[in-house]
Amino acid sequence: MIKENVKKIIKEIPGEVELVGAAKTRTAEEIEEAIDGGLKIIGQNYLQEAEKVYSQVNRDVRWHFIGHLQRNKVKDAVKIFDMIQSLDSCRLAREVDKRCRRIDKVMPVLVEVNSGREEQKYGIMPENTMNYVKEISALDNIKIMGLMTMGPRFGEPENSRPFFKITREIFEKLNEENIPGVQMEYLSMGMTNSFKIALEEGANMIRLGTKIFGEREE
Ligand SMILES: *Cc1c(COP(=O)(O)O)cnc(C)c1O
Repeated sequence: MIKENVKKIIKEIPGEVELVGAAKTRTAEEIEEAIDGGLKIIGQNYLQEAEKVYSQVNRDVRWHFIGHLQRNKVKDAVKIFDMIQSLDSCRLAREVDKRCRRIDKVMPVLVEVNSGREEQKYGIMPENTMNYVKEISALDNIKIMGLMTMGPRFGEPENSRPFFKITREIFEKLNEENIPGVQMEYLSMGMTNSFKIALEEGANMIRLGTKIFGEREE
């Protein structure tokens, strides 16, 4: 089932789009099934859970952190992750930089944009994103490679479009700005409900959970 789901999705999306399997609460077995279907990037929201499945899944895949990262978890997170998609504060950026320097690693990162300007959500406000990127671009042990957004949750996928548009516009502005050390490559947006709209709005990385693994038991 999971394996077939991944195969089907990969056939459905353009070849240049990267698929991230949002694997929160999923077992190592489920993740391996997805890998057998062709999944190359595993997204994790919680460090403890990630460490567990990371040690169980011995496959040649990349691991992306997609949740809110607490600063006291950074030291361990930088050891296992190949990208952090959810940079959402200067303090967090500095901590990732510092911990990576100690293990001689340069961490690819995406900046999370709070495209819906939602109080309860993490992420940098759209109007502050340019300054935020400029501010953290001087850090040597992180490499800014793009933007990520969640956007508000809607029943109707079409309602997500304005938030993907806003994020894409910031992405393009940043790209034109040619900030030293910043390489705008990935625009990570779109989940199970909204990924088709996100692709229309220029996403080249989508994060799917339910569509790969099925409904979650809460
Ligand atoms: C869970 C999650 C997803 C995937 O959500 P689905 O609706 O199950 O596809 C994507 N991004 C993040 C950050 C998530 O936490």
